Amino acid sequence: MAESVGSPLVSLDHEALVVRKGVRSGVYTVIAVHSTVLGPALGGCRMTSYASAAEAVRDALRLARGMTYKSAAAGLPLGGGKSVIAMEPEVNREAMLLDLADGVEGLGGQYIAAEDVGTKPADMELIRTRTEHVVGLPPELGGVGDPSPFTAAGVEAAMRACVAKRFGSEDFEGRSVAIVGAGSVGEGLARMLAEQGARLIIADINEAKRGLAEELGARWSDPESAMVAEIDVLAPCALGGVLDETMIPALRCQIVCGAANNQLAREDLADDLHRRGIIYAPDFIANAGGIIHAAEEHAGEHDPDRVTRRVEGIHDVIAEILDASESGGRTPLTAAYEIAGRRLEAGRATARA
Ligand code: NAD
Repeated sequence: MAESVGSPLVSLDHEALVVRKGVRSGVYTVIAVHSTVLGPALGGCRMTSYASAAEAVRDALRLARGMTYKSAAAGLPLGGGKSVIAMEPEVNREAMLLDLADGVEGLGGQYIAAEDVGTKPADMELIRTRTEHVVGLPPELGGVGDPSPFTAAGVEAAMRACVAKRFGSEDFEGRSVAIVGAGSVGEGLARMLAEQGARLIIADINEAKRGLAEELGARWSDPESAMVAEIDVLAPCALGGVLDETMIPALRCQIVCGAANNQLAREDLADDLHRRGIIYAPDFIANAGGIIHAAEEHAGEHDPDRVTRRVEGIHDVIAEILDASESGGRTPLTAAYEIAGRRLEAGRATARA
């Protein structure tokens, strides 16, 4: 039975939780394995400062569960896990990463580390000196490279499914789309949409991105105005938590579909979007292109056709979710959890047989 840990409540239904005070660094590292029903728990290693070790544990538990649903919905043979390093800025970075690596090795392949907020390919290379259970390596060490183009392609596929649902055609010609955050994913997405004739608004806090807007014939905007512009699609591609109680009533878009993780400040806000008639593509489905790409590295054989097929499959998953949402009178977020939950249940049944 699920229990709760601390406040705010985090339900505990995980397979493993490893909390260690690093022997080299003295900082806490946490590895949470939520599920290995469908395969080893692949998930990023987040390296950031926390108010307390308990906060780091809560974050790892929450993020690990999200990975289970993300991989299940994407049809990947992977479970869900996440690790966090409760970073202290004055502590040696290498020591913190090696302490985490020992924990990963201790789980014997149950958890596979990857990049996340605060870590980069060179860090994965260092973790690799202690354990083979890591992906996201630099290409010269057998890594599959930057996931961003695949994430962008997945968001474009998800957006096509949303546009078809709302407007009856997948054509982007003349559709207005605001991309808020023109970084690695946002820029790739902007290029794909511009190519298909979409009318773009590009917004970023970095003024240097104005050049991209000019190059693509897009309107440049500040992020606050772009969020509330009267448009067909809003694509949050920067930070999480941008859709909160204040922002949702101000939205004037028909569809929200972007790359940013945890776009909803709270999951129950999906109900508010639904009530307002705004189609929301659950972020963990729309941005699964990156994990689909990383799964190839773990599989040890890079099959570009399979990656392309699976990334394009995000379109069909979103279409299924939106149909289920419409016919069942529930939010797309609820429908997404149901679909991922069914895949997990099927995996459990196979494991029991
Ligand atoms: P990035 O760091 O390359 O780009 C983020 C961009 O957002 C930058 O240009 C930055 O200047 C801009 N930005 C920051 N704060 C902003 C704000 N308040 N308003 C407007 N713009 C702002 O990151 P990315 O790799 O493109 O990822 C974007 C989002 O997608 C993140 O939330 C990330 O977690 C998520 N995501 C990325 C991948 C991937 O493959 N890169 C995969 C899954 C999810």
